[in-house]
Amino acid sequence: MKLRMSDETARSNFNAESAKRSVAITREATASPGPGDERRAHARYLTTRPLVVIPLLPDHQPMRVFQAEGVTIDLSQSGVGFEISGIDRLPSSRLVVGIEGEDEQLYFATLEVRRVDRSNGRLVVGGNFTDPEEDVLRPHNVLPHLNPHSHRFETGLPTLTLYKWAELGVCRPVLIDRILVCPDCNAIPTIRRGCRACGSVRTATSQLIHHFPCAHVGLVSEFEIDGGMCCPKCRQRRLVIGADYEYLTGPYRCLDCNWADTQMEFVGQCLVCDLRFPIQQAIEEELIGYYVHRLDPMGLVSKN
Ligand SMILES: [Zn+2]
Ligand SMILES: [Zn+2]
Ligand SMILES: [Zn+2]
Repeated sequence: MKLRMSDETARSNFNAESAKRSVAITREATASPGPGDERRAHARYLTTRPLVVIPLLPDHQPMRVFQAEGVTIDLSQSGVGFEISGIDRLPSSRLVVGIEGEDEQLYFATLEVRRVDRSNGRLVVGGNFTDPEEDVLRPHNVLPHLNPHSHRFETGLPTLTLYKWAELGVCRPVLIDRILVCPDCNAIPTIRRGCRACGSVRTATSQLIHHFPCAHVGLVSEFEIDGGMCCPKCRQRRLVIGADYEYLTGPYRCLDCNWADTQMEFVGQCLVCDLRFPIQQAIEEELIGYYVHRLDPMGLVSKN
């Protein structure tokens, strides 16, 4: 009875609306920009904005030594033209570009270089933004999600790679969640109530009778005397439910290990290694996502 009350209190204190909002904020912050207005989509806008260029290594790590600064020349939904000084060549045809917005914040996108011209010691570069699903900094790569094969939460890019992008200020680590995982292999468990001693769910509870006048509590079988209901302590006969006595749920007994207890335990079972463990032994794992201010090119030009 007490247990049920505390359950219900916990449930009513847990605000489902706030919880939904918290999840929605996480999703919104990481959504890619929607498709731009068709009319503007193919137009190129002359715009001069500070920009940084970071060439990409084949393993998606930033090529730091070639990091360069420049200014944009023109911008469209599909690409950008810009000039940079300080380097005499681009070491790769895939770049991450960060273009400064009105708020002096850099907004990032992955660019496929289409042309490079040298003029007066500067490089004039034109390229196309990669498809959202090919973008190195797409949500799948930077946010933890359940990998159905490994049964673990993972980011598309290795943590070390994300850490290098974070060091450059391209993304920012944010705590997304803290979850309980298998103490042996860090995979996700399923959870059930089970025996405190062995984790089994095969348990039985005995029903008890509480006799009000004498306060005796005993097994139902002890009250069944001579074909009627009779209190084994005070010997009162012809007991009436509700008026004389009530049923109580007694302790449970484990049918596998014979352990008896008043409470069950939350027991985890790992989806990968099958380990059963009391949930207190689970390891708490922090899920870190890497937030990126992603470039919405038309959002930048329409504010001009
Ligand atoms: Zn495991
Ligand atoms: Zn047991
Ligand atoms: Zn009695």
